[in-house]
Amino acid sequence: MIATTDSSMSPPGRPYQNTAFTNSYEFARGGYNLPQYPFATPPELGAASVVRHPIVIVGAGITGLTLACALARKGIAAIVLDEDNSVGVKGAASRGICYTQKSLEIFHRLGIYERIAAKGVQWSVGRTFAGHDEVYSFDLRQQSSFQLSAQPPFINIQQFYIEGYLVERTLELGGVDLRWSSRVTGYTQHDGFATLTVETPAGSYQVEALHVVDASGSHTPFHRWCNASLQARRGDDRWCIADVRFKNLPPTERHTWIEAPFNDNRAVWQHLMADDVWRIDYQMEPDADPAKVSSESEVRKRLERQFGADVECEIVWVGPYAYRSQCLDALQIGSVYFIGDTAKIVSPFGARGGNTGVADADNLAWKLGAVLRGRAGPGLLASYNQERLEAAQQNVQVTNRTARFLRPADGMERRFRDAVISLARQYPFARQLVNTGRMAVANPYSQSSVCGNSGGLSVQNVFFRWQNDSPGCVNDLLQWADGNLLLLVFGDQSLQARQRLANLSRQAPVRCVQVLGPDTRTQSRETVRDPQGHLQGACHVFGHAWALVRPDAYLAATGETVDGALVQVIEHALAIA
Ligand SMILES: Cc1cc2nc3c(=O)[nH]c(=O)nc-3n(C[C@H](O)[C@H](O)[C@H](O)COP(=O)(O)OP(=O)(O)OC[C@H]3O[C@@H](n4cnc5c(N)ncnc54)[C@H](O)[C@@H]3O)c2cc1C
Repeated sequence: MIATTDSSMSPPGRPYQNTAFTNSYEFARGGYNLPQYPFATPPELGAASVVRHPIVIVGAGITGLTLACALARKGIAAIVLDEDNSVGVKGAASRGICYTQKSLEIFHRLGIYERIAAKGVQWSVGRTFAGHDEVYSFDLRQQSSFQLSAQPPFINIQQFYIEGYLVERTLELGGVDLRWSSRVTGYTQHDGFATLTVETPAGSYQVEALHVVDASGSHTPFHRWCNASLQARRGDDRWCIADVRFKNLPPTERHTWIEAPFNDNRAVWQHLMADDVWRIDYQMEPDADPAKVSSESEVRKRLERQFGADVECEIVWVGPYAYRSQCLDALQIGSVYFIGDTAKIVSPFGARGGNTGVADADNLAWKLGAVLRGRAGPGLLASYNQERLEAAQQNVQVTNRTARFLRPADGMERRFRDAVISLARQYPFARQLVNTGRMAVANPYSQSSVCGNSGGLSVQNVFFRWQNDSPGCVNDLLQWADGNLLLLVFGDQSLQARQRLANLSRQAPVRCVQVLGPDTRTQSRETVRDPQGHLQGACHVFGHAWALVRPDAYLAATGETVDGALVQVIEHALAIA
């Protein structure tokens, strides 16, 4: 039995404008107004016995709330404990801004995508400059890999808006208890469950949990409490981030400077977010003093150098940042699962922090749901560590490479970067080596295929046609599958294969759909059409084939023949002994 306590944690960054907290989170002149959620006295306070919950999530940041919302959508009870009473992190209100297609597809499934799309800003053009020259540009709309999804390649929106929408949606769905002003200060591991101590304005209490999910961010006390081992690296690179509203708007494009003449030849990022607020990230000199570089006078001088002495703008928020990279050696210890920034920390180049935290939550949500509903064996939960650790390690590696390109060591690294920039000005091949951030992707799981070559790959939320010719998308099918695996069978099947499919859903937790080509019509309810082959392409299979899709829109397995072995494939994918 391990028992540990902690009482001091402080978030990074500092606010420039004093935020007036109200019950809305619209932008208001003078800063962001974040919502204030009320503290409600929990039933455990004053109760004679300790209550055991199936799932307790510690932390209501973007990853904890994504998990909470996903569980609520599946009808799985959980409690969420957050020491704060608002979204965002106090003193660091403006962090994530850029959300990738995979995250947007997940948010679509959870029912908040429309709110994000209405508030956020879509962009597809990115330009990279060195000095006064543009060395590289891209338009994501021209890249076919992004075009087919119902969601765009990216939406830029302040992280706290997404968190606010997740709170709203979780409350709409019900079944998950969001407890604000509730700080977890102690943890004890027992055989098969854990006890947490929670401090609140009305006193402290204890809860037991079968599964504890640590989503308490980069300052988590659970690493120490669980004796977690990790790999960490901290460099001397320093950044100052300014959120700014301009009278005259710059173009809605992502601009990055590897060497900005207006910033002493250091890097600068320029991105639009919701409410016409621009995020400008300035790279500072190594080990720069955070207080000095983020003073208002310094920030204004920098803005004038970049946009001209007559720039008219309002500074909404400023914060200095030093980035580190960190990755746990295991994402599950005892009853505790680590997700989001507690699993790994990456520098923000490529928007991989929050986006991959959302993917952690989506991965764990369906597995917890399937196990707690008795549709999968407990062994399924072990695959969370295997899959998301692989993803975490990839993301740390990719962002570390970018960090080294942006802050090269003197000597060979700097010479390599100078050569790349110089070649990229003239030769297209060298532009691929310019690394101002490789944007987050749906990480593949190389060990996860039950059978076939494509297991472990993500399935895009592409469109198909229902029998009545109205459009549907992959997320509609996943919703219909209701937390079960989804078997998509492509091409005309023999009578015997059709009979097998009809029996399959009675034998295993799976829903089957036959996917037909452009000209075939049947009256079967469980048949859809894929006239342009987008659904088949998204499942990475060709011709007569089947694809077994998981509730998180990843492939569990693919194959060609619909035969009796499919039952074993499904049971294997769900760790059913
Ligand atoms: C400048 C910057 C820019 C970024 N840009 C992007 C981007 O564009 N896209 C992107 O995807 N990511 C981005 N990131 C990364 C992203 O912000 C983080 O990865 C993300 O916030 C992690 O979310 P989380 O839910 O894991 O943790 P957090 O957001 O840190 O949430 C942790 C929660 O736990 C609560 N908590 C902490 N301790 C306790 C306790 N003991 N008891 C109860 N509650 C507790 C806190 O109150 C908080 O609500 C950026 C980060 C920075 C700093």
